Amino acid sequence: MNILRLSTRREEQQMSVKRVKSLLFYEAAGTPSGRIVRTLIERGPLSAREIGLSTGLAKSTVSTALHELRLASMVIDRRPANGRSHGVGRPATVVSLNPQAGTCVGLLIGAEHMQLIVADVSHAVLSDRTLHLGTDYSVAEAPGRAAEMLEQAYAELHLSRDTLLGVGIAVGGPVNPLDGRVLRPGGMPNWAGVDIRAMFEPVLQQAVFADNESNCSAIAEMTWGAAVGQEDFVFFTVDLGVGGAIVSHGRVVTGIAGGAGEFGHISIDPAGELCRCGNRGCLELHASLRRPLELASRRLDRPVDTEELIALALAGDVGCQRLLTDTAEAAGRGLAMVGSAINPGLVVLGGRAALAGELFMAPLEAAYDRHTLVKRSDVAPEAATRFVASRFSRNSACMGAVGMVLRHYGRRC
Ligand SMILES: [Zn+2]
Repeated sequence: MNILRLSTRREEQQMSVKRVKSLLFYEAAGTPSGRIVRTLIERGPLSAREIGLSTGLAKSTVSTALHELRLASMVIDRRPANGRSHGVGRPATVVSLNPQAGTCVGLLIGAEHMQLIVADVSHAVLSDRTLHLGTDYSVAEAPGRAAEMLEQAYAELHLSRDTLLGVGIAVGGPVNPLDGRVLRPGGMPNWAGVDIRAMFEPVLQQAVFADNESNCSAIAEMTWGAAVGQEDFVFFTVDLGVGGAIVSHGRVVTGIAGGAGEFGHISIDPAGELCRCGNRGCLELHASLRRPLELASRRLDRPVDTEELIALALAGDVGCQRLLTDTAEAAGRGLAMVGSAINPGLVVLGGRAALAGELFMAPLEAAYDRHTLVKRSDVAPEAATRFVASRFSRNSACMGAVGMVLRHYGRRC
């Protein structure tokens, strides 16, 4: 009896997975059900009203399609998560894709580790694990290690691999959107030229989506973070490196070869120091946290790490405050060039510099305003560039790799 019930449940699950997969493919893109499933997988649980606004479908069409999707066990009604804002009048329930209807994996390839997150199509994180590999792990062993991590995660969750829609991979360098090859990764030179899709797809036996860490982090910000509901914004990271992403019409701009949003390598001094990218005088040399960390370590005559530098500054250490303020001003000057090029409505500041809060944000904004063409005082408040800190203190790139599958599944030809 139990075996029968178990096998029936498994069959129902397989059916839901198949239906969701079919509704995400091109043929279903124009149908009301296809549009609703696409919206729910990209944005997570929504009220019926929000589904109507997002898809542009009439209220009655949304209602009929949701009824059919409920009958097919593809969506379920649930209470909104705590803290979710729905504006005036919180709905009693939101609609979510059935968690049984599919899972996604995000894989972050770091210089010394790999991180793997499993989430379901309702956006719940089911598993998050990290494997430390050391600095000398070879590129060739990475796909096999990733496959082991994936196998272990699904075994522990008692989940069938058949539920998996795809694997998103975040790497520390630009990825060519046409062929999936990694280009010039500053921090991970042995990955240069590696074709991520060709390398991982046969081993993982799954559709693989790949992009660089910053672009993935931007996807995390627009899916769960500080840019939810924003179609156009700039993501700007200041940490040991400087980087970012440009999001336009809800899509990360990759550029023709994957090189868009590499703000850290805007050369601001042609005769300046040599950068790790091979160019001279890159913004990253002036605006990353490396220089202030060196100076703070020299001042205190012991190694100081990023968290301590920020803690000392926030606790009132004038020298550490000055080091962060100078860095924020340099970062703001560089970002002002991006501002003059694309005049964004929103800048999301990521990286650990964001942990310093206003101490970093205020001089960054002031320098941006001083050096960009359109000033805050030139325009109405709603036309001024807004600055907000990322809501992710960790995991943004790996969660973004999950988000990449949620957004791109079925769209690849
Ligand atoms: Zn550079």
